Amino acid sequence: VPTAPAPAAARPCAGPAGAAEAALLQHLCRKVRATGPLTVAEYMREALTNPAQGYYTRRGGIGDSGDFITSPEISQVFGELIGIWYISEWMAMGKPNTFQLVELGPGRGTLTEDILRVFNQLASVLSKCDVSVHLVEVSPKLSKIQARMLTGGKVQPNPEDESVYMKGISKTGIPIFWYRDIQDVPPGYSFYLAHEFFDALPIHKFQRTEKGWREVLVDIDPEVPDRLRFVLSPSSTPATENFIQPEEMRDHVEVCPEAGVIMQRLACRIEKDGGAALVADYGHDGTKTDTFRGFRNHKLHDVLSAPGTADLTADVDFSYLRKMTRERTTTLGPIKQREFLKNMGIDLRLQVLLQNSRDTATREQLLHSYDMLMNPEKMGDCFNFFALLPHHRLVQADKKDKPESKSPLPPVAGFNELLMK
Ligand code: SAH
Repeated sequence: VPTAPAPAAARPCAGPAGAAEAALLQHLCRKVRATGPLTVAEYMREALTNPAQGYYTRRGGIGDSGDFITSPEISQVFGELIGIWYISEWMAMGKPNTFQLVELGPGRGTLTEDILRVFNQLASVLSKCDVSVHLVEVSPKLSKIQARMLTGGKVQPNPEDESVYMKGISKTGIPIFWYRDIQDVPPGYSFYLAHEFFDALPIHKFQRTEKGWREVLVDIDPEVPDRLRFVLSPSSTPATENFIQPEEMRDHVEVCPEAGVIMQRLACRIEKDGGAALVADYGHDGTKTDTFRGFRNHKLHDVLSAPGTADLTADVDFSYLRKMTRERTTTLGPIKQREFLKNMGIDLRLQVLLQNSRDTATREQLLHSYDMLMNPEKMGDCFNFFALLPHHRLVQADKKDKPESKSPLPPVAGFNELLMK
């Protein structure tokens, strides 16, 4: 396969990996030798979710002792405020008598745990509502951790049903179901949650050249056996034809078609069955270029070295997600994490927790985690919140005809200040 010189995106490779770690690299090299360079999306999918050697399948190191830390792992307040967001939307939408909480990529299960604690504390508000939890998780390793966290081990595998691979009951008595794909989650009024999920989905990378758009591919370095490097496709590929928007101005673009498909599904489901989706991730609104990177032991890691041993991630392009809803729903955001959490009342919550904690170590920990979540230099500015809501949530259908007939619609919390009675 003829290949062009490596584009600017190429980074030097790190040293050789250990024997177990080298298995996925060997597999990928065999694949390249057999069928030519891989798209970055194929490479990323294998590195993250290969059934035997993928990063999430085998390692999935979220938390202090792992490879990267996420907001729910930093502070329980984060999940509690998200739990309040769902309750506030449930109330604003007329308190339907049942809803599903559907989380995509639940990690260690901490976020759902914190949300369910809030649901339990507000049990009197939710007393007439039938709540169930539906987790979409591809990693067997992480699903076990989630089961332990959420049910204390009260789960059963579900071999007779292809789509629901595990079932359990939460510590607070709510039924929980596990799936590999959002399409398997039953239809119905649902609140969706995707925290640091879309950034883990495979991206294609493109570079503008004098001859037009070319796809960035992963090839074997001819100088060093079993070392990978980036190259540009010698001609256009199906992806360059289909995934670049005609109005694109950037010279280097990352596109995540899988995120687009999931977004379309979410928008269709919300349009048809009602509910809302909250997406939180680091990202941009269609402005950034080369954001593909790896993390191992909380340090940046060369994306092409020792695949399967590091978390690979790319910033979420919210403008693309918005486009993919095809206006089936209203979208709000992206707004910065620190604005969203401030609107949700994080300052008040911090004050209450500080007043209730006697020892200095706990108080310091509370202040430290608040700073991590809110400081613009830390997670406050680079993480964003984005929501999908049914159109009628923001625009009353009959408002034009009878403007005085209904009370005004409540503002959406987080994107506005929380007003909860
Ligand atoms: N939401 C968690 C975890 C983020 S890590 C947190 O914020 O802490 C990404 C999560 O998505 C992991 O649970 C990973 O196993 C899962 N995941 C990655 N790719 C997936 C896919 N294609 N389908 C379903 N889950 C996936």
